[in-house]
Amino acid sequence: MTSTNLPNATAFPSSEGIQTSSDAVVITTADMRGDKNPSVGLDETMDPILAIEEGRQRVGKLLAGLQESAPRTESFSYSPDDVRFENHLAVVRLGIATSLFYALRTKHAATAAHCLRVALSCSAWAERMKLDDETRDRIEVAALLHDLGKIGIPDRILRKPGKLSVDEQMSMELNPPLGVEILRGCTSDNELLDIVLHANAWYESRRHGEGPRGDAIPFGSRMLAIVDAFDSMTTDTVYRPALSRERAIEELINSSRTQFDPELVLDFSRMLEERPEILQGCVVNRWLKGLDQSNKDTLWTGPPKAATPSKQVVRRESLYYQQLLGNMSDGVVFTDAEGVITEWNHGMEAMTGIPSSAIVGKRWAHESLRLRQPGDNKDDEACLVEACLRSNSVVKQAMLIEQPGNDPTPVHLTVAPVMGLQPGVYGTVTIVRDMSDQKTLQRQLETLHKKSTMDPLTQVANRSHFDDRLEAATRKATLGKSSFSLIICDIDHFKSVNDVHGHPAGDEALKSFAAVLKMHSRDGDLVARYGGEEFLLLTPNCDNATASQRAEAIRAALEKTPLASLNDESVTASFGVTEFQPGDTPESVLARADRALLKAKDNGRNRVIQLGAGNKVERVAQDDAGKFGWLQWLGASTPAQHGEFDIITPVPVDLAIEKLRGFIADHGAEIISVKENQLAMKVNAYYTKGGRRRADQQIAIQVQLTLSDANVERASSDTRSVKKAVVSHTNVHVHLTPIRNRDRRNREVSTCFNQVINSLKCYLMGDVKRCEG
Ligand code: GH3
Ligand code: MG
Ligand code: MG
Repeated sequence: MTSTNLPNATAFPSSEGIQTSSDAVVITTADMRGDKNPSVGLDETMDPILAIEEGRQRVGKLLAGLQESAPRTESFSYSPDDVRFENHLAVVRLGIATSLFYALRTKHAATAAHCLRVALSCSAWAERMKLDDETRDRIEVAALLHDLGKIGIPDRILRKPGKLSVDEQMSMELNPPLGVEILRGCTSDNELLDIVLHANAWYESRRHGEGPRGDAIPFGSRMLAIVDAFDSMTTDTVYRPALSRERAIEELINSSRTQFDPELVLDFSRMLEERPEILQGCVVNRWLKGLDQSNKDTLWTGPPKAATPSKQVVRRESLYYQQLLGNMSDGVVFTDAEGVITEWNHGMEAMTGIPSSAIVGKRWAHESLRLRQPGDNKDDEACLVEACLRSNSVVKQAMLIEQPGNDPTPVHLTVAPVMGLQPGVYGTVTIVRDMSDQKTLQRQLETLHKKSTMDPLTQVANRSHFDDRLEAATRKATLGKSSFSLIICDIDHFKSVNDVHGHPAGDEALKSFAAVLKMHSRDGDLVARYGGEEFLLLTPNCDNATASQRAEAIRAALEKTPLASLNDESVTASFGVTEFQPGDTPESVLARADRALLKAKDNGRNRVIQLGAGNKVERVAQDDAGKFGWLQWLGASTPAQHGEFDIITPVPVDLAIEKLRGFIADHGAEIISVKENQLAMKVNAYYTKGGRRRADQQIAIQVQLTLSDANVERASSDTRSVKKAVVSHTNVHVHLTPIRNRDRRNREVSTCFNQVINSLKCYLMGDVKRCEG
């Protein structure tokens, strides 16, 4: 309806229809479908079901542009077919009052087109809300004529390119009462008049005088206000470019309650998410087919009794082409078999800024069409249309459209050969899709992801992202696929840094600290801020010795880095280092690293402390296990109910107990009882069946330990002596049982025993022997 350059349907022989190969565009004309009478309107010969389906699909498509964010221009140059289509809709909807619509169009064509779009949208919305026919009819008519009062507004105001002055604004506000004045001459339907009268009323504001507020405003007016505003916002005008659909919805939402009925705004925005063009297609269909003479005139009671305009015959296929191509936001270009442009739709004009009149008749050439490939690769820039004609197949490519003074628009081109029923190619059809929205969405998602995983101050990972990564690393390491180390560090006396230099200087110090950590990280490492002035470095495939060396390097670098915000003083930090070891959970690794950090603080700060035996022990343990034979037991398929082991640790009892303290702290073990040399505690062990969430697969195990001295004789290292040294050892007898009865039958219990015993072995640095029986 608003297109300035409608394609010429005779560009391709319509008797054959237009088809393109494989996945290319297929445009089937009414003739091809065997429809002998392709006129629009009250076509008696048409199968009603087919008609509805066809209306749904084709009209739905052609009207898609109505709600899309593609800019519509107010500069009208109506083609005769445009006018005929609009007339036709007006006639079937307004009946004897059609002349009012004609009058409005004569006054201001853009307003008439706007009214038609608003009416179709209102009707689609009413349909969706399942309003009764009478109400919907009334809303449709009110919407079609809601700007009728503009007939009485002076042109200098109506067509003013800039912002209106207060006086002019007041004149504009006369639009509804003026419209009602005109309408009163031909209808006595007060409900209809009320809808028009209050179409500009604000929902909850006294901005517009003393009229009704809130739900006292007629329902139709509240609907109309929303659709009216939405259509105006999404249409380009001389003084304001069109907003995108999303921005317009945002505006509606921002103004809901004050200007618009909030519940209706919500419902309208939902409709927009649900492909309203299909609903609108149905509306057009209903208007064209469903409204008969009797119901279209029910609202008109008064004079004038104008004769119904004589039959309008619009050729259906040309109508569809025109409306489809004219209203599409995608660019569409037809060329003939020589690559000469024969059609250039409104979408193309909007995207390139090149009017159809300037390009039709010229050969397709990327440069003159302002198209270029992303990047600087000029060599690859084969002409797509030529390529399509040569290969007789569909060519697709991402490109950029450059418009002077604007950022390049990313677009996607699909060039398809057009073939008829006869052999040979008639030409090409190119669809150019603006990809800016997708690009923006992608960027927004990336930003959102970044925001949810990053610490905003230091630009390193945040705690939640670190927790996820630590959990994944632990899971992988538990499966024996890899190992990792964890370095935790905390700035020393940071409180006094803040106290002396101020909080902003403290922030700068945190940023520099994070930067030093990042500088010392390797590919695959994760630097995270755990909170306050505490940072973490998770480093895969790095054993504890290497991790300690790296922590030491960071410590030394930090000490030597003067910070401008602290008057060139530096800060120091303390470091705790540990490596994953068998039986660890994310919590136990973190707890161990934290204990190491505490030790570093206790020992005087500005130092690195490493705790834990690391993952290497596991391999030794498994070798030993083979020797001791308990690994076979662990792998046995019979469900285990209990396990008894002896761990011989080469340290005296008091030291063994000290090491147990670490195990208890890191595993969050719960002490059940202590009796003489026996300790019973509860430890949660996990198994990761099917990679599901760990917490879902947890077995609580009672670990009962009996500690006793064991003196072991060992040959002296002095080879010349035959004397044997007696070394103090501790024997730890371990008895494991699942705490819950139901876990006794769980096949995974042996995996969990394995975890606990391996971890105990690491902490006690001992050898394991399974007790038989
Ligand atoms: P220690 O050597 O024992 O770690 O002493 P400390 O002063 O560093 O430790 P403490 O936990 O007593 O104080 C931490 C300080 O870190 C207190 C708090 O004001 C400061 N802090 C935490 N987060 C931020 C932040 O985002 N910016 C700034 N500037 N300071 C912070
Ligand atoms: Mg600190
Ligand atoms: Mg701290």
